[in-house]
Amino acid sequence: MQRNKLLFATALTILLTLGFVATSVIGYFVAEDSLEKQIAEETLPLTSDNIFSEIERDLLRSILISSLMAHDTFVRDWVVDGEEDRESIIRYLAEIQAKYDTTTAFFVSEPSRRYYHPDGVLKTVSRANTADAWYFRVREMNEPFEINIDHDTADPARLSIFVNYRVEDESGDFIGVTGIGLAVESVARLIETYQRRYDRSIYFINREGEITLRGSGYDGPISIQGQPGLARYATRILTSPSTEFAYERPDEGTVYVNTRLIPELDWYLVVEQRESAANARLLNTLIVNVLLALGITALVVVIGGWTLRGYQRRLESMATTDRLTGASNREALEMLFEQAQKLARRHGQPISLINLDIDHFKAINDRHGHQAGDQVLRELVETVSAQIRETDTLCRWGGDEFLILLPDANAEDARCSAERIREAVARRNRRPEGDGALTVSQGVAQGRPDESLDSLIHRADQALYEAKRNGRNQVAVAESNGSRSPATATRSRG
Ligand code: GH3
Ligand code: MG
Repeated sequence: MQRNKLLFATALTILLTLGFVATSVIGYFVAEDSLEKQIAEETLPLTSDNIFSEIERDLLRSILISSLMAHDTFVRDWVVDGEEDRESIIRYLAEIQAKYDTTTAFFVSEPSRRYYHPDGVLKTVSRANTADAWYFRVREMNEPFEINIDHDTADPARLSIFVNYRVEDESGDFIGVTGIGLAVESVARLIETYQRRYDRSIYFINREGEITLRGSGYDGPISIQGQPGLARYATRILTSPSTEFAYERPDEGTVYVNTRLIPELDWYLVVEQRESAANARLLNTLIVNVLLALGITALVVVIGGWTLRGYQRRLESMATTDRLTGASNREALEMLFEQAQKLARRHGQPISLINLDIDHFKAINDRHGHQAGDQVLRELVETVSAQIRETDTLCRWGGDEFLILLPDANAEDARCSAERIREAVARRNRRPEGDGALTVSQGVAQGRPDESLDSLIHRADQALYEAKRNGRNQVAVAESNGSRSPATATRSRG
């Protein structure tokens, strides 16, 4: 029984644990799979789209402002009229810079080669100066404008995105270059915002693969060719307008990458996301799930075991007790007799049996009904139980007939017990409604070595018959030497 219970608990634990853990692990892998897809197909492209369109918007706005400046009749007329009032162009540039919140606004005149700026005339551009190469490039080009990333003339430490717009007079002759500059920091700020918000690494590279702009958290190499794992994809990135792929980075696992060319800057925007960051969250969830599952399993097993034990006890008692009186039933007695006999053999102890039957019980049923009879049976069991030892067993054999098994008791011990029972019943138990005392007759027999229960009962029965025959309310003892009768009988004097 104990082994079965253990087996059941083990099987239940294994099944529940397997079930829960399998569900959690499958859930984890499904989530991981969809996470990979989500990173590769949704979040990264979306981030790069967002950054791309914000940069494009800033650039378009700058181109528009520069175009307005290049076509402003004031600027043209002022140059054509000989650049007389310098303050007026300086004031004009200062207003543009303030109104559109740009980092710089400039005009370089072709006739004088002066570089005008809100702060005044900063310099004169010359072919000899490599820092002025941009001017001569714009001067020769056919397109109306270019976008260029360069150090600011007004503040050489600052990298700016310049829109350089050609200015032409009414007849289409080149008379200078105007435009505005955007601080690259504003793009860097954009990168930072996205990095913080989405836990992604964002940077720009030029056509050579060198990192040109990055957020403050970037601590990688200065070019993509220097990044182990990523180097392999350098050619692919630098030859296509947009790519997406994943590569393995030593110690950090899979990194998803999305790149796209920003044609105006001639830079590539690179957005990276490490799988591990998102995966760590999934792994945590998995661990919590598994722990929870183990907890629930333990709880189910404990509660299940408890409930089962309760049921088992009830079943056991139902199978071994008499429903009406609560005394043991035949099955229980048969079992207990075997055990008692084994013990008796081992320890050389006697074993005895009392057969007890109520006197004239039928009359109670007949006169007062079956229920009154039942009540008498219950009360009798109470009285008898109080008189026997804990090791004795009272069993209802059927009807108004009871057997009492007395281990470690010889015929004389059993007779004394029977006598005590007889007196107690006569003293305490009443027949219903003033019919006087309830009496019982009892037959006592001591077991012989290896005697069967049937045989022992039979001999006790014979003794009981003797007691009945001799006038009831008495105890008769069967001879233990084998002869059936005569049994000795004792009787109350009341
Ligand atoms: P005696 O002194 O010779 O034993 O007379 P008696 O009337 O007790 O005769 P017997 O033992 O043969 O009668 C047993 C009666 O017990 C017969 C039956 O109607 C009644 N009986 C058997 N089982 C139950 C029971 O569960 N409840 C009740 N109320 N009566 C029962
Ligand atoms: Mg009877």
